Amino acid sequence: MDFDMLGLAPKLIAALAEQKITEPTPIQAQAIPHAMNGRDVMGLAQTGSGKTAAFGLPMIDRLIKDGGKPAPKSAKALVLAPTRELAKQIADNLAAYTQGSHLKVALVVGGAGIVGQMRRMERGVSLLVATPGRLIDLLDRKAVDLSHTGFLVLDEADQMLDMGFIQALRRIAPLLPDDRQTMLFSATMPKQMEELSKAYLRDPVRVQVNPPGQAVKKIRQSVHFVAQASKMDLLIELLDEHRDELALVFGRTKHGCEKMFKVLEKKGFAAAAIHGNKSQGQRDRALREFRDGKVRVLVATDVAARGLDIPDVRHVYNYDLPNVADNYVHRIGRTARAGADGAAIAFCAPDEMIELMDIQKVMKQDIPVASGRPWEIQPGQKKRPNGGGNKGNGRRKFGGGGKPSGSKPGGGKPAGGNRSRRRGGSKGKGRAAAA
Ligand code: AMP
Repeated sequence: MDFDMLGLAPKLIAALAEQKITEPTPIQAQAIPHAMNGRDVMGLAQTGSGKTAAFGLPMIDRLIKDGGKPAPKSAKALVLAPTRELAKQIADNLAAYTQGSHLKVALVVGGAGIVGQMRRMERGVSLLVATPGRLIDLLDRKAVDLSHTGFLVLDEADQMLDMGFIQALRRIAPLLPDDRQTMLFSATMPKQMEELSKAYLRDPVRVQVNPPGQAVKKIRQSVHFVAQASKMDLLIELLDEHRDELALVFGRTKHGCEKMFKVLEKKGFAAAAIHGNKSQGQRDRALREFRDGKVRVLVATDVAARGLDIPDVRHVYNYDLPNVADNYVHRIGRTARAGADGAAIAFCAPDEMIELMDIQKVMKQDIPVASGRPWEIQPGQKKRPNGGGNKGNGRRKFGGGGKPSGSKPGGGKPAGGNRSRRRGGSKGKGRAAAA
């Protein structure tokens, strides 16, 4: 099958060919025909599956065929995304797909000047990509009018649930016409997604490429059972084995990530960090340099887990296991993209056993053990408090502080004997980077 057969406008097919996009991916082949028929779509697909084009192309096709200018301050289509980085990536993709057409794409996200964004909206745009918080700011200032917006896309909708998105959506959605077309895409399908779908979609067609919670097959997963205090040494050792390849390291807290980044830099790694305490400029630069390969190791909180498309990431380290099991799926989805293969390496300290078990439940599989042995769960053991690092866009409403909880080194003992790796115990070394 190719895009011709889907009936897309020739101009659009030409723009796609420029991007070397000639054959629809499975999610595109499933979603595009329904979307072009005007149906609401509920898509279960991870980033990397080509889902931006799956929702983007039908809208662009319709807007090209309809012609006509947008009304002042209006957007013909609105895409909501959970983080600034993801919103920018979507806007960049849509801009590439609309090359050579009359369509205009705008990006409205926090961390960038609001005045420029208001000005950009004055004449109206074809496609507006926004994070909910900044969009509400612009709505409050009467700089955006959604009463003519015929398309609404909620991308990575499961991640937006974490961030007070429901309240934002309750304000935004009623501003759009009732007869709009709505598409919701999500990497996982928690229960709330059904409610969201009932509230905002009309008789949606369901399309999916990966069963919920199951990572793309090409990701080789493994877990090291390692004391918190020994994680840094292990990380350095593993990173050293693949110095030329891109690695993404997830930590739990902003503070912990910053420390980890500094240790790695001192050890001579081309490293950078992105988290909620970095300015948008710093975050953009770190991502750009990581994409370009200037930075080899990117240390990040969950701000980077969602939706980022960096094709060459070979290794994703879960230095700290995520508090929310679904985030594991998002994090490891950053590797093995665009058909490449990749490895997801988790570090599990004694007080992360419950997190690990939750992850295995969501993945419906046991993660192969690379070193050590599962820790015994202590009576009354609970999950570690959330580090607050996963609240991506740094806004007060959605953002979060969250203090590092500090984990007790050696807070549990290995079940069934000694760990096999040489750095068994829990010496203080390396602990600085743990929180
Ligand atoms: P996405 O899942 O939307 O983030 O897309 C992941 C990457 O795949 C992006 O860089 C797209 O440009 C690319 N892509 C999307 N659709 C196709 C396609 N049909 N063929 C080849 N590459 C694609």
